[in-house]
Amino acid sequence: MKLSDFQGRVIIVVILLLVTVLAVNRIQTVGVAPLESADVLAELPSRVQDWQGQGIRYCQNEMCARSFLVDELKGVSNCPVCQTPLADVSVGERTLLPSDTVLVRKVYRSPAGDEIVVTIVITGNDQRSIHRPQQCLPAQAFEVKSTSRMSVPMTGRMPLVMTVIFADNGRSGMALAYWFLGGGHETNDHFQRLAWMAWDNLFRNVRPRWAYVSLQTPSVAGEQVARDRLAEFARKLHPLLKPNSSTLPKQSGQITPTLAHPLDLNTPPWPSVPPRRYVG
Ligand SMILES: [Zn+2]
Repeated sequence: MKLSDFQGRVIIVVILLLVTVLAVNRIQTVGVAPLESADVLAELPSRVQDWQGQGIRYCQNEMCARSFLVDELKGVSNCPVCQTPLADVSVGERTLLPSDTVLVRKVYRSPAGDEIVVTIVITGNDQRSIHRPQQCLPAQAFEVKSTSRMSVPMTGRMPLVMTVIFADNGRSGMALAYWFLGGGHETNDHFQRLAWMAWDNLFRNVRPRWAYVSLQTPSVAGEQVARDRLAEFARKLHPLLKPNSSTLPKQSGQITPTLAHPLDLNTPPWPSVPPRRYVG
């Protein structure tokens, strides 16, 4: 029996539908891997060589929405302005992200006074924890000026490839560098990450957690200065983020899941502008 063109196409469509249904079913039934599968520590070091880091605490009162460096709080756990309890994530982040997202963030300052904000977001069961910065920045009134790749030479391994974005909100500019890692993969490309996720789901029967690592710094001194600063910092930071890194104390127990988003409206592009209030 010879099939007509139409019958042939129907058969192909039915086969594709079946494959899709099987793939979706498979993705839903594969359990998410433990936190370690993100290939990154769920904490940030207190120092990155000569850069000193400290945490940021956010007021949970939506009307206040201020944020503070941990050092300037001097142990106070409520907002010095409105007395509402502080948390490690902003109200916007808490609202936006799935509840099993892990987020850690620190501000690093160099002896020369330069600043870099480092954020690590680790997905939970829900992959929506990680968004493309190119999508989030316009929502914060930042216009993306350019997107490029940067390859950073590393010691004892292949170069770290980061995506670098320059963005501007009309008042100030910033540079943002990021990469993803999880399940033994590392990539600067969002779509490559999605491809690895699909591959792991379908052919390795695993759902590793993925981490998004981002570095933000002002670009007021020029794009090349910001680019060089990010490259140099990433080169120092990357080895310290390895789960078996000997430069950090061993992680104790389960990380408390926190809700957050690296680039939502309540998150500052960088914390020193304006001083004492880290929300634009
Ligand atoms: Zn407050």
